[in-house]
Amino acid sequence: MQAAFPQTVKHLPPTIERLNELAANLWFSWNHEALQLFAQIDPVKWAASGHNPVRLLHDLEDTQLAALSTNTEFIASYHQVISAFDSYLNGTTWFQKTYADRGYAQIAYFSAEFGFHESLPIYSGGLGILAGDHTKSASDLGIPLIGIGLLYKKGYFTQKIDASGGQQSELYPYDFAKLPIEPVIHNDQQLTVSIDMPGRTITLQVWQVRVGRNPIYLLDADHEANQPADKELTAQLYGGNQDTRIAQEMVLGIGGVKALRALGVYPNVYHINEGHAAFLTLERLKELLHLGLPFHVAVETVRSATVFTTHTPVPAGHDTFSIEMVEHYLGPLLQELSRHKQEIVALGLDHHSGQFNMTHLAMNTAGMRNGVSKLHGQVSREMFKEFHGHIDASEVPIGSITNGVHLDTWTAPQWKELFDRFLPGTWREEQANQHQWQQVEVIPDESIWKVHQQLKDDLVRFTRQNLLEQRRRNGESEERIQEVRQYLNPKALTIGFARRFATYKRANLIFNDLYRLKKLINDPERPVQFIFAGKAHPADYPGQELIREIYRVSQMKEFVGKIVMLENYDMNMARYLVQGVDVWLNNPRRPLEASGTSGQKAAMNGVLNFSVLDGWWEEGYNGTNGWAIGSTGAADWATQEKENTHAIYHILEKEIIPLYYNQGALPHQWISRMKRSIQSLSPTYNTHRMVQDYTEKAYLPTAERARLFVTNQYDVATKVADYKQFIRNNWYHVQIIGIDDRSAKLSTEVPLHEIKPSMKDVTAQIHFGPIWPQDTAVEVIYYEEHGDSWEQKIISMEPIGELIEQQQSFKATIPSHLVHGPHFSIRVRPISANFAHSFELSLVTSTLSWQ
Ligand SMILES: *Cc1c(COP(=O)(O)O)cnc(C)c1O
Repeated sequence: MQAAFPQTVKHLPPTIERLNELAANLWFSWNHEALQLFAQIDPVKWAASGHNPVRLLHDLEDTQLAALSTNTEFIASYHQVISAFDSYLNGTTWFQKTYADRGYAQIAYFSAEFGFHESLPIYSGGLGILAGDHTKSASDLGIPLIGIGLLYKKGYFTQKIDASGGQQSELYPYDFAKLPIEPVIHNDQQLTVSIDMPGRTITLQVWQVRVGRNPIYLLDADHEANQPADKELTAQLYGGNQDTRIAQEMVLGIGGVKALRALGVYPNVYHINEGHAAFLTLERLKELLHLGLPFHVAVETVRSATVFTTHTPVPAGHDTFSIEMVEHYLGPLLQELSRHKQEIVALGLDHHSGQFNMTHLAMNTAGMRNGVSKLHGQVSREMFKEFHGHIDASEVPIGSITNGVHLDTWTAPQWKELFDRFLPGTWREEQANQHQWQQVEVIPDESIWKVHQQLKDDLVRFTRQNLLEQRRRNGESEERIQEVRQYLNPKALTIGFARRFATYKRANLIFNDLYRLKKLINDPERPVQFIFAGKAHPADYPGQELIREIYRVSQMKEFVGKIVMLENYDMNMARYLVQGVDVWLNNPRRPLEASGTSGQKAAMNGVLNFSVLDGWWEEGYNGTNGWAIGSTGAADWATQEKENTHAIYHILEKEIIPLYYNQGALPHQWISRMKRSIQSLSPTYNTHRMVQDYTEKAYLPTAERARLFVTNQYDVATKVADYKQFIRNNWYHVQIIGIDDRSAKLSTEVPLHEIKPSMKDVTAQIHFGPIWPQDTAVEVIYYEEHGDSWEQKIISMEPIGELIEQQQSFKATIPSHLVHGPHFSIRVRPISANFAHSFELSLVTSTLSWQ
């Protein structure tokens, strides 16, 4: 089903009529020439539109259009852009070239927020930007991915900072007809789907966003058939209370699956981007139960096709609802499936808290799960250790795929021009190839510094304008307003800090020693300046207090014009900042930053990261491509804060400032570090690498499994489900009935000198009951000393002899002189070639350690 342009679409002269098409595809947002094309039509209206080409076209006068249609220079640029657009849409992609035989793969990517561009404000921060960047790279690479999200009538919120540093959050309803989206038209009407809520049905309208080759479908509840309160359900991203939240998550998950069906789409991979979208699995379960599948088979089928990415490293950050609330809201669904009510609720039950936890629901219904950096993967495995019975955290089946950013969106055009000139012609397509980036070495220092200085000048101008508007609106004196024209020195070392103002990100850490800071900032020879920006959630009062504090410090006479707090951080401002500062500061409490991505944007633009070794930076930092704050050791918050504060000042004073100001005509050593940063980080921390990882590690294996599970009337799904049920019912038979670890010593057949003195044989006698030994793995586990830590070793044991009376022996060879107290243990666990991971059944029989 094709989306059509809305009836209100601007009527354009035939020579430029495809501007409508360009405006309706977010490809424009990462193509500099397309952006320029719109900007040059009318720079004032372009700025006033918030860089929204649909609104720009609406706002043009007929006379302007007539002039454009005969402006040969404009027409020439127009044709160039249109031709680039057509080649983009029709070109051969990485996926087509590499996976021509996987045409059946179809991925649906569900996310509560998407940050594509400032003109479509349905994001709040990192999670949304990540989703936007993910879909852009999926399009670039030709990955068959459809997005599902919500269309928020009032977006997140517009932030204003008042004259005392208070955050004012303002909400404006968007005119959907003037956003770069289109209604999906079906039988001459906008397509709608409906979901059941307690006592009523809610109608949802379906919209489409074109992101290059791929569509993203957005749902909104502002439909005339709905009650007034229901119309407001999708008014605001992360607004309202728990009731709003659960209803929004139902719209996303349940409504999202229904929208796919209404569009005739049956994906074989469902990607849950953070727990918010996990209800999608319940709608799928319902579909399968209606087809007549038994519950356990339906769950296996859902699981075979689901990928879950978690983003939250603290238990308190996960979305939870009381069981009563879930039973109330999901009432209609649970009633329809009343025979399975308990089982369905159990899928999301967190036994510890007694709450319904969206992450638990996702964990229970996703065959593949991952965190968003190596460290976050580790933290998540630790957090879900008990989820799979008692196994070592290292074995918990949650992997990691480190986040990246969309290079074309975040890299300044001036840098791209340098890359075009000095890197191999394939640098964009093969941006994940380390090798190509080595060529950054040959870019002349002069060219790099010129580009960097230009971007810094742009940022200073942008900053002054932002402050000017802030003060003018706040009704400040003309003198105070004009003063900002002198703020910030384009030649001074400039440090940027911008992100959501959640307290764990510690935006005010640098203020812990104002006296020391004062000296740094006011050094006449080597001045330093800071630019801050970020929104705090309207209900996060401690977060808003941070803004007030930064504002207050920025008004102190020693800091005026040298520390500034900008208002309304968005993707537009983010681009200026990550492209224009010298140093990008990030000092969260470790390990609370699951990945972080703004530092990755900075790195691509030659901006040096100065960050706590958390999230992506723990793996990105190599000693020469930026600076690390503090150590990787775990410490309580107070100790971390003390250590990090000290490290920040120390590194600034001893390394960063001297390096920056060590310049004759050019700071060659600084530039050399910029090159190290681009070379070492760009190839890894981009979304092309990330989406390729998702494709190869998660999407393709999942698509294949999902397809296998449903063929022949759900044959494999049924076998796996029955197998699991059989194993669950009979596992109690499995017992380790004897262990012998003296065989090596006692053996008389082997000449003494042939026995490796350091190794010994261990045998175990296992009783299996009706379970086949082949359906299990028998393993011996011991710990090896490595420096000051212990590493778990798992050795699989080989069967010896026959299965006699449901018993069989197994053997393995292990070191005989284990110094670790309990020497080893033996465990038996069920396995199957059709399992997505090793602990699909949380069943492990093990000996306590055996001395
Ligand atoms: C990139 C970005 C973020 C995420 O930044 P983090 O450093 O990951 O917190 C948030 N908001 C905007 C507008 C961004 O562009």
